Amino acid sequence: MDKQAMTAELLKAIKTYEELGFRYLPLKQDRITDLLHSRPVYAVSESREKIMTAPQPCLSLDKDSALQQLKEEIGDCTRCRLHKERKNVVFGEGSSEARLMFIGEGPGRDEDIQARPFVGEAGRLLTRLIEKMGMKREDVYIANIVKCRPPFNRDPEQDEIATCKPFVERQAEIIHPGVIMSLGRVSAQSILGMKMPIGRMRGNFFSFHNIPLMPTFHPAYLLRNPKDKWLVWDDAQKVLEKLKN
Ligand code: SF4
Repeated sequence: MDKQAMTAELLKAIKTYEELGFRYLPLKQDRITDLLHSRPVYAVSESREKIMTAPQPCLSLDKDSALQQLKEEIGDCTRCRLHKERKNVVFGEGSSEARLMFIGEGPGRDEDIQARPFVGEAGRLLTRLIEKMGMKREDVYIANIVKCRPPFNRDPEQDEIATCKPFVERQAEIIHPGVIMSLGRVSAQSILGMKMPIGRMRGNFFSFHNIPLMPTFHPAYLLRNPKDKWLVWDDAQKVLEKLKN
């Protein structure tokens, strides 16, 4: 198919999505770029006939609407076995304009009951860290790799992670924060697809969908090992420095 035909096909697809009521097009930047032979296309202009470049990571015109749409798409999800024992899907919360996003592993008991991420003891510690960094909890965005509580707080299985991870990826794409901090081993290894111990990953920046990502310890680990709090603070300092730049 030549470039002109591909462009026509792409416009047809965009029009169909638009007619279906979509305000966010679930295509990745590199995929669109491939389609158009390295011509970057990120956003749809008000004229649906026109393809234009813009410094946005997706076709969202409104981040809150895009997040709401994703939440509705997840709905009362039964895509993996974790749905069986959960009380609530814990979608995530915070500012859609957040410059800092936290990604944990999965909801625990309190989170499952309240349908909110990081609200138990570990959550209170995370809130204190956010405040120590000079922000309010509502300024940042907080989500998890899996959105349903694994029974007995076990680690999520690989297939559960693979099924649910696209949702947090889309949250990160929509919000497009300046920096992501992943919390704990499971989160860092799942996001980055690496088996490296968290003790070796933390303190270093990685890239996740072109967003700088700093792995650090999970607050639940810090409750058991308070002596390591200074390491997380050290990671937070690097994140603040990166956000300044
Ligand atoms: S963990 Fe994710 S994929 Fe599995 S049921 Fe819950 S929302 Fe769906």
